[in-house]
Order: sequence, then C-alpha cells, then structure tokens
Amino acid sequence: MPFISRRLRAALLATASATLVAATLPSPEPLGIGDRLFPYLGNPGYDVLSYDISFTYDGRNTEPLDAVTTIEARTTEPLERVNLDFARGKVSAVEVNGLTSDFATTREDLVVQAPTAIPAGVPLRITVRHTSDPNGSRAEGGWLRTSDGLAMANQADAAHRVFPGNDHPADKAYFTFRITAPEKLTAVANGLPVSTQRRGATTTWTYRTEHPMATELAQVSIGTSAIVHRTGPHGLPLRDVVPAADRARLEPWLKKTPDQMAWMERQVGRYPFETYGLLVADTSTGFELETQTLSLFERPLFTEPGYPEWYVDSVMVHELAHQWFGNSVSPQSWSDLWLNEGHASWYEARYAEEHADQPLERRMRQAYTRSDAWRAAGGPRHIRTPRSRATRSVCSGRWCTTAVRSSSTPCGRRSARRRSTGWNGPGCGATRTSPRRRRTSPASPPTSRAATWVRSSRRGCMARRHRRCPGTRTGAARSPRPDEPGAGGAGSGGRRR
Ligand SMILES: [Zn+2]
Repeated sequence: MPFISRRLRAALLATASATLVAATLPSPEPLGIGDRLFPYLGNPGYDVLSYDISFTYDGRNTEPLDAVTTIEARTTEPLERVNLDFARGKVSAVEVNGLTSDFATTREDLVVQAPTAIPAGVPLRITVRHTSDPNGSRAEGGWLRTSDGLAMANQADAAHRVFPGNDHPADKAYFTFRITAPEKLTAVANGLPVSTQRRGATTTWTYRTEHPMATELAQVSIGTSAIVHRTGPHGLPLRDVVPAADRARLEPWLKKTPDQMAWMERQVGRYPFETYGLLVADTSTGFELETQTLSLFERPLFTEPGYPEWYVDSVMVHELAHQWFGNSVSPQSWSDLWLNEGHASWYEARYAEEHADQPLERRMRQAYTRSDAWRAAGGPRHIRTPRSRATRSVCSGRWCTTAVRSSSTPCGRRSARRRSTGWNGPGCGATRTSPRRRRTSPASPPTSRAATWVRSSRRGCMARRHRRCPGTRTGAARSPRPDEPGAGGAGSGGRRR
C-alpha cells in the first residue's frame, strides 16, 4: 500500500463519501400521491397535522411577501428527503426538527434533505423561510390581486403557489395564519381571530381554524376592508369581509346569510364550522369559491345590474352548501370533485325553486342539454393513470340527506369496483378515505385532457355562466343573461362556484 498522507487520505475519504451519497440518493424529483388528475400534487411519507403561516405584506400587491411556513407533521414511512409542493417563491432557509437542512427545487416541488434519516411514525417539524409572489397567471390561481390588496383562490392545485405544503385535499390539517400589514389595512383569514397586535406602523392579525382544512380552501384577505359581524343560527358568529366603501350597499345581501344557513340546516343538519361569512373581493373573477368559513365572491356579482335577486341568492347558497359538501366532507381525490359540486348545485337549485319559483327540473334539463357540448369541448374522455390503493374507508355522515360532521364513523372497506369512483354506497358516501401514500413520479407532466379540463373548469370555465367556457376560452368573455339556459342553472356548470 503506497504511503498516503493523512490530509490526502481525509480528502479521498470525503470524496468517496460524497460519491457514495450521490450514488445512494437519486437527484431530487417531484413526487405525488397518485391523484390521477394531478399526479404531482401531495407528497408521500408524512401526514401534515398543522400549518403555521406568517405573511408580511408591505402594502404593495405587486411585490413578493416575506413568509415563514412551519409544518407540523408525522412521518408515515422512513424518510431521507421530504418533498413539499411549492412554487412562486424563493426559499432562503429550511429547518427540519430544528436542524438546518439542504434543499433543492424541481418543477413545483421543494425537496428537503433531512439532516438524518427519519424513521416512520415520528413527529416532523419543517420550517421554511420563503417569499410568496402574488405575480403570476391569474388562470393558475394562488394569490388574487384586488383593487386594494390580496385574496386567495387556490382551488384546485394552487395553494402551493402561495405557501409550501402537502397540497392535496387528502391531507387536511389545522391552520394558523399570522398576517402583518400596514395598520391602515385589515387582514382576515379562515377560522376565528386569535389576536391583533400593533407594532409601530404595522398590525399583525392572527387567525386559527378549529377544524381541519384542505390546502385548497385556505383564504387570506388583505385590504381596506370592513368586517361586518352578526349572529347566525344557534348563536353562530358570522362575519363578512367587504370593501369598506361598499358596506352599506352590500348589507341587503349580507343580511341574507342567517336565513340561508337556517334553510341549509333544515336540509342537512347543523353547520359544521366555527364561523361563516362572505369575502367580497373588489376584483372581477367570473367565479366564486367556497374557501372554508369565508367564501370568496367577486364584487360585481352584487353590484352589476342584470343579475336577478334569485340568481345571486342561489349562488350564495351554493357556496354555503359547499361548507358541508366539499369542505367538511372533502374529496379524497380530485376525481371526486363532482361530489362537491353535485351537492352544492342541488341545494342551489332547490333553494331557487322554493324561494323564487325557478323549477329545478327545467334547470336540470337545460344542463343536460348542454352537457354533451361541454364535455366535447373540454371534458375528460379517457384517463389512464394508476389508482390509489385505499387502505381504509371513513365517512362523515349519511350520503346525501343528513348532516355531515368532521367526526367520522368507519364504514368499511371500499370495493375495488367502487374505488375508482369514490362511491361507497348509500349511507357510506363520503370521501375521507386515506390512501396508502404512494411515491408517484410521473414520467411526463400532467398534461392529460383530464387535468386540462379540471384546470379550465375550476379556474376559468366554471365561469361559463357569465364568463368563458372551454369552447370559448380564447374568445371574448361573454355575459349571458342569468335566465339563459346554462347561465343560471344548478348543475348547468355555469358560473364557476
Ligand atoms: Zn361549487
């Protein structure tokens, strides 16, 4: 053996170790949990318990916000790396269980190298210091710039364009938001207020959810807003967030919520969350969104002439119904989206029939008349992606008719035949089935017609009630009358809601 100096030997050993690590660990790659419509969403190996997200907003909605996201999770399998979904922000530092960690980005994943191998079944705390950029294609979702600030529109696949996380509704978690903004602005988020702290010329607003929530339902509003309080059924605190200048003008609409909620409770049981309200954003979106406890509405819905009162009422009921269907009971995979929209559209149409003599049957027939054309223009035709393997099935209440609760009742294993549809059978309907998380690294980006359809329909085309639809996406926006077939009908797939 030739003589090798101690220094050279150390250098060779270091090189050998680096080579060994490089040979052992493949290069970072984006992963998913096997959603056939969004193969890259979600990540295997851990279950998020809570998010604590701090945003610092300097008053300009064209500039990236400084942010810190802390994720409390539990590993479900041994991990050497942790993948998070994240895009539209720069990451400056990551800690895993208190130790500084290396990281890399690939496509829309942030891949964190664990300082040491992490076994299955242990707590995992990840802190990411990053920015959150509100600039980007509105069609892709995420931050929504308004005339006076920001709001969020994250459905279906855009929460990770605001904050890092496990961006799939199969992994719901508790959320705490801490928003620091200039003192003249008002910040509101999902859940209930925890504290408001003034420091110099800024105020930090803290909100926390009392129920688990899907990332796509996160909502943060920052603007020159008024918060309007009232009381709903059983003393439920209601709060609406509206442009301050519009408070009086919008009151005739806002005051409808208690009666609408009482009507919904007569249909399906008690409201499932800690609060509710409308967030009226001063921007034009062409859609509404059922963000949990604080549904997003575009201001023109209430201020543009031409929308009959019954129509606006039914849209409000649609978003309210989603709090039960889509939020409290939430999809296990995005293929289950029809469960959200089917129920919300059903109660929307029922409400219009009972309160405004708008026959449900006529609206449904109009929708069916148009559905073939919609599917031909942008719907899924044939999907070939692996199915998730369900290991247990848990539901939240009885299918269709009775109240839905976050507390779940085991209802048995799904049959293989039904697994692909998410249908568990009468009385066992829901969609909270936990898959055995799979490492999915698709060979190609999710560009199937199915994925395109969901994006177009959830982002831009559920707006076809008075905006664009798949067949007219490249054309000028169109504003059909609300009484036009497909313009206002439940199940018509009209305006995105
Ligand atoms: Zn909807």
